[in-house]
Amino acid sequence: MSETRNHHIGGEKVEPASGAWFDSTNPATRETLYSAARGDAEDVNKAVSAAKQAFESPAWRDLTQTGRGRLLRRLAELIAENADELATTESLDNGKLLREMRGQMTGLPEYYHYYSGLADKIQGDVIPTSDRAVLNYTMREPLGVVGAITPWNSPLTLTTSKLAPALCAGNTVVIKPSEYTSASVLRLAELVDEAGFPAGVVNVVTGFGAEAGAALVDHPDIAKISFTGSTGTGSRIASSVASRFLGSTLELGGKSPNIVFEDANLHNAAMGVVAGVFAAAGQTCIAGSRVFAHRSVYEELLERVSARAATIKIGDPLAAETELGPLAFADQQNKVAGYVDLGRSEGARVLTGGHATDGGGLGGYFYEPTVLVDVNNGMRVVQEEIFGPVVAIMPFDTEDEVVALANDTEYGLAAGVWTKDLGRAHRMANRLQAGTIWVNTYRAMSPMSPRQGFKNSGVGVEHGQETIKEYTQLKSVWVNT
Ligand code: NAD
Repeated sequence: MSETRNHHIGGEKVEPASGAWFDSTNPATRETLYSAARGDAEDVNKAVSAAKQAFESPAWRDLTQTGRGRLLRRLAELIAENADELATTESLDNGKLLREMRGQMTGLPEYYHYYSGLADKIQGDVIPTSDRAVLNYTMREPLGVVGAITPWNSPLTLTTSKLAPALCAGNTVVIKPSEYTSASVLRLAELVDEAGFPAGVVNVVTGFGAEAGAALVDHPDIAKISFTGSTGTGSRIASSVASRFLGSTLELGGKSPNIVFEDANLHNAAMGVVAGVFAAAGQTCIAGSRVFAHRSVYEELLERVSARAATIKIGDPLAAETELGPLAFADQQNKVAGYVDLGRSEGARVLTGGHATDGGGLGGYFYEPTVLVDVNNGMRVVQEEIFGPVVAIMPFDTEDEVVALANDTEYGLAAGVWTKDLGRAHRMANRLQAGTIWVNTYRAMSPMSPRQGFKNSGVGVEHGQETIKEYTQLKSVWVNT
């Protein structure tokens, strides 16, 4: 068996109760990287017990808010010191470009710095009720044990979006990372302990969704589930936690429109379309995979986007010159290929790309950057999340028409607008049903800026100060003087 990775429970490396392991593979080469512990209900029980014990321990419960902030700051420093190792670990596991991962790791400590600064600012209010004889005030208390379930496309960043505010607010956490990417989150848990957080404050149980993930969702001692993943899984989790009246934050799928008006800087817009959909081989929730171009610039935009797409360098994600890495696993490659075939059968024309490749002899799960035209908003390839390097480009004539087309989707995660007309930019920002709107840019993100999905893209807010409410319980106290 290859090198093994155990669960991280109560500050210890813990072997799976079942004695079962599963392999994690490098998607660029199909080589086995390591075997991870296959978690089950017994492992989850251990992890939740450790987290519950840590939550109730004086070492964590009595730590001042300033103290929590200090630990978060130390964790930020440790992540910065280990950034290169974290970037390489994740790049090997999910095939993201090492260059891109290094960029992400430069930004990751900022999340912990941001929430370290907020830790001593979580406070209640004094409420001026009409009864002068009483004092009414509110407090915000931590919830307890938070279950965090995350996907494979950006494990460290998406785990951090939950972990940093949950810890800032005084909760303890059990993380179930994706079965495709266990390694980087296990390493993060080691750094959490090294930073000085008491053992059991952060635990990781690796394994499959239907086993470890479902056991975490169903555990009676969980106070909240914070989930990022597909809308289908999110819906199952929402049903399960709703019957127990538990809170949940659900960050789900997307099929985001990227809209190019006739007055846009076409070079910038074309590059924004390319980066919007082909970054991380299209495996991002915010991928701008439905592009609408004003009919007067449609042909020129097609030319610019397909010319750039055709020259994107596919290859080894560790190599500096590579622009597009592999899809994260075999089923992901099959899914993308299946969607492009479906598009062809629906009448779409493949302008560029349209083939699976092995990455120039690497043997991995690559897929060419693909541009689909002759499509309409009703087709499945335009409505369903492909989660791969595939963009559908359609013409439009009027602002009203494109608003209706852009909003005609079950999703509402993000949208891009390219125009020089400030009035139009504001009108579009008002009318688009999406949680994040980018004007003349795409993908900008910050721990300071809250985001929330509309419609089937999610429930609850991540990032910014708003998310603290998601990890605290409000208490109102009445004191009769
Ligand atoms: P997924 O839903 O298959 O899995 C996500 C996580 O849930 C994994 O850890 C998985 O093991 C676990 N899981 C699966 N079934 C479960 C169950 N029954 N109970 C509990 N846990 C279960 O999603 P994925 O394929 O890993 O990720 C891709 C999806 O994530 C895309 O739809 C993408 O849009 C979405 N995503 C959303 C955001 C966002 O911020 N909105 C960010 C990144 C990815």
